[in-house]
Parts: sequence; C-alpha cells; structure tokens
Amino acid sequence: MDYSELADVYESLESTQSNLEKTSILAKAFSSLDKEELEKVVRLSMGRVFAAWKDKEIGISSKLMVKAISKATGEKESDIEDLWRETGDLGLTAERLVKDKKQQTLAKQELTVEKVFMTLQEMATYEGSGSQEKKLDKAAELLSSAEPREARYITRTIIGDMRVGVGEGTVRDAIAEAFFPEEEKEEVKSKIQHAYDMANDFSVVARTAKEEGFSGLEEVEMELFRPIQMMLAQKAEDMEDGFESVGGEEGAVLEYKYDGMRVQIHKKGDEVKVFTRRLEDVTEQFPDIVDAVRKNVDAQECVLDGEAVAYNPEDMSNIPFQKLSKRIKRKYGIEEMVEEIPVVVHLFDVLYLEGDSFISKPLEKRWSKLKEVVEEAEYDLDLAKHLETSSIEDANSFYQEALQSDAEGIMMKNPDAEFKPGSRVGYMVKLKPVMETLDLVVVGAEWGEGRRSDWLGSYRLACRDEDLGEFKVVGKMATGFTDEQLEEMTEKIKPLITKEEGREVDVKPDLVVEVSYEELQKSPQYSSGYALRFPRLVQIREDLGVEGADTLSKVSDLYESQ
Ligand code: AMP
Repeated sequence: MDYSELADVYESLESTQSNLEKTSILAKAFSSLDKEELEKVVRLSMGRVFAAWKDKEIGISSKLMVKAISKATGEKESDIEDLWRETGDLGLTAERLVKDKKQQTLAKQELTVEKVFMTLQEMATYEGSGSQEKKLDKAAELLSSAEPREARYITRTIIGDMRVGVGEGTVRDAIAEAFFPEEEKEEVKSKIQHAYDMANDFSVVARTAKEEGFSGLEEVEMELFRPIQMMLAQKAEDMEDGFESVGGEEGAVLEYKYDGMRVQIHKKGDEVKVFTRRLEDVTEQFPDIVDAVRKNVDAQECVLDGEAVAYNPEDMSNIPFQKLSKRIKRKYGIEEMVEEIPVVVHLFDVLYLEGDSFISKPLEKRWSKLKEVVEEAEYDLDLAKHLETSSIEDANSFYQEALQSDAEGIMMKNPDAEFKPGSRVGYMVKLKPVMETLDLVVVGAEWGEGRRSDWLGSYRLACRDEDLGEFKVVGKMATGFTDEQLEEMTEKIKPLITKEEGREVDVKPDLVVEVSYEELQKSPQYSSGYALRFPRLVQIREDLGVEGADTLSKVSDLYESQ
C-alpha cells in the first residue's frame, strides 16, 4: 500500500466528527489489506508503530522534529517555529514547507506504508550517544521523500499527535465492521473485546479476525510477556453489601487492600518482566522485584498478580504510594532507589502456570496453586493476607485488623469466579472506610441555572488557617443536595453575601457545614493547596461558629494519613 493511500484515509478521518463515519472509513481501509499491511495500518491508524504495552518509543520530541523539518526543507528553525506557532500544528507546518520545497525539486521516491512503518520502528532502536542525530537524519530522510500531505501525517505520527480522532473504540468497531456481517456485529464485539483483553494489541486482533474469524478471536489466549488487562473492582457500601455482591455458597474471599502499585509479573525461567496497571513495562525500574521472583517463585513459567508496596527501610513502616510512584518513571540511579524505597510484593493471583492459562479457573483454585508456588520471604515477596469466610463477624474483625496494619481496607472476591479483565465484571469489590468528615466554612457560592436559578447551588468551602487567621478554600461542593437543603442553604447564605459578580457571590464566613468526600488531593487550584474530591453535604452545623471549623493543619494531617 502506498503511504499516500493511508494519507487519504487519515484525511477522510480528519474531515468528519462522526464516529460512525470514522468507523466506516477505517473498516473500508482494513478490509482491503493483506495480513502484513493490515497489522501495520491498524497500528498506524492509532498513531503508533508498537503495541501500546511495548516499552518502545520513536523518541523524537517536537523540538527535534523541528530540526528534522529544517534539514529536509532547508528552512531556518526559527522560521519553522514561527509557522508552527501560527498554525498550531507541527504536521501542517511540515506540510506547507515541504510543499514550498517540492515546487523547486523533482526527485521523488514513492513512500509505502511498509517503508514508513519500518523506518519509524528502526528509529526506536537507536540508543546511546549519537542516537538523536541518527533519528533526526532518518526523520529528515522520510520527509524528503514525502509529498506535502504525507509529511503532515509522518510528522504527527513521530511526535505522537495524530489529530484524526481515532480511539480504541473506533478501531474495535471498525474491525467488527470490516470482517463480520452486520447481523453478527454485537456478538462479535464481545469476542473482539476478549481478544483485545488478552493481546492488548489491535493488530493481533485484526489479523486474527481476518484470518480465523469468530472462533479465532475466542481462542486468543494470553502469552508470556504480553500483559493482559487487569481485573478491577467496584465499591461495596459496607460488609453486607460486599457479601451480597461477591459471596458464594461458601462465603467470600477477603484480602487486605494494600496501598501500592498493581503489578502483573511474567516469568519464564530466569527471565522476569513487571507490568503496571496501565500495562507499562517497569522491569528496569524494579530489579528488586525481578530478584525476589527469581528466588521465591517455584515455577518455570507463570503470570502472577499482586501489589507492590513501598516501605521505609529504617523502621519497616509503609510508605504512601506517592513516594513509590517516583520509582516508576526513573531511568537512572535505580540502585539507589532500590535502597531508598524498597518494596515488598503481596501476591494475590496466578493467571498462567506452566503452559496453561488459569483465568477460567475459579479463584479458589488459583489461590491454592499460588500458595504452592510461592515461598514467602519477609519484606521481599509474600502472599496477600487472605481469608475465606461466610461469617460477618470474622469478616469484620479481619477488616479491623487490616485497617490497623496500614492496609487501606479490604478487597472482597468471589471464590468461584474466573479472572476477567475490566472494572465492571463484579467478581471483586473494595471496602474502604469513608474518610473522616470535615467542618468547613462557606465563603462563596454560585446561583443555579434553570429550575434552580433562585437558589445558590455551588458552594465554595474553606478551612481555617489558624496562623494567618484567614480562610483557605479547599473545594467546591456542587452536587447531591435535595431541594429542601438548597432552599435552606440559600436562606442562610443570602444575608451573608458581600459581593456579586455574574452568578458568583462572595460570602462572609459564618456558616459551617459538615462535609464528606472521597479523597483529599494536592491542588494548586485552591488557596489551601488541597482539593476535596466529591464533597457532599452531611449537615449544616448550626451549633458551630467559624472558630469551630476545621483547620488547615487538620486538612494537611488528613491528607498525609489517607
Ligand atoms: P482501586 O484502585 O481503589 O480501584 O482499587 C483496586 C486496586 O487495589 C487494584 O488495582 C490493586 O492495585 C489494589 N489492591 C490492593 N490489594 C489488593 C488485593 N488483595 N487484591 C486486588 N487488588 C488489590
């Protein structure tokens, strides 16, 4: 396939906002290709040349791309930057400059999809000194052979900004439309989803759909060193609700919910790879996990699921996830990081063992296999704290124990359930304590719209900065009120309004409300430096004056302790 034909496809995609149309455009393109081209075009349609989970990038920044454009067109870098500022799109910039240049030269080499794809992949393999230079040369070489429109899309692919509006959903639907009759579409979509969960690569899915059809998709299985999507959890309201959601005949499985980083570990002999929840390969960043698995997992081939938790090497206490996350992006000084922020992996599942996929076996069975292959080693690798019970009392004391030992709460799992990727599968739920409520002062509000325009709706909430004697905003509470509550709040706040601008009002600090929320985050958006996630009104605190409102130091303590 000529790259110019792919450019036609990109251009049609870019010219419509409609997802249905985008799907049809892609489906048409996919259906006409042979196997090899299909794999490449599927990736390129999403602006990539590697599967999302591969630890590989083309590795050219926009800045370096400006240099490549300059090299290919002879234009000055500063002029390119000016034009880039004007167009807001480096792809269009390259297109224009290549067009200007093309009028002067005649030499032209046809670019094929194959050529562009392979060149981009090759660029990712350059490493070490001089690699930037080499990448730049290759990019310039591609642009020199490109027609103006091709230059637009090559540039965008290289800098990772396609602007054609194709996401995973579009590609999934396009594969269905390209290779299956309309009446089977719905059924096919779930098979495609299964294949994608297992392979995490739409080019594998598309090739299978084309070559092997329906049954082929069903049979896409996990493979070692190709991560599968994780199983995620919904929330349980309380213990009873948890049992109702996941409890079977024999009760439910309860486990500590550790506050760390989800890890999917693949092992074959001494080769070990570690993937995060987003399926990023972090093997290099976590040599300690690799070691621990080599030493303590007695299996030739396996895929394990667990949570890596950081601890303080001095007193062995848990360290919050924020600090551990520093290790995820590290490219250098990794050994120091291992010393400074060591981790212990708590394993809770095995998905693959000695050549067999375990995901359709019940959790109970997987857990007993996991116990067989793991030799626990303190502060390196062990099994998650785990209890199978049908007694609410036992469950409650397990929950209390979990909270006392630094766990965030518990996970509750269905012992009879298979492993299924995704968040709405309903085989596992999480139970966490609701955060302690805060008593906060209303310092501003906003008039509602439509039916609610007579009421003040969204409230600016503040805590007390005891050092400065000021009120510092921690968020806006805007949802979850009954009409009665809105009316009552409005009546109480109206006399306190000090300034009105549009729908916004400032309010004299006087009214205190008790508020629940899901989480406290750091945020530069509010004057306190913190933001409440999903604040909700518990009650109006008639009994409290502003001096009884919670302080900034309490907010900051709560932030640290969550
Ligand atoms: P959340 O991120 O709040 O939706 O909770 C789900 C996450 O809890 C998972 O992705 C894991 O990273 C983590 N987790 C901690 N302990 C466990 C456990 N025993 N079983 C499953 N997930 C766990």
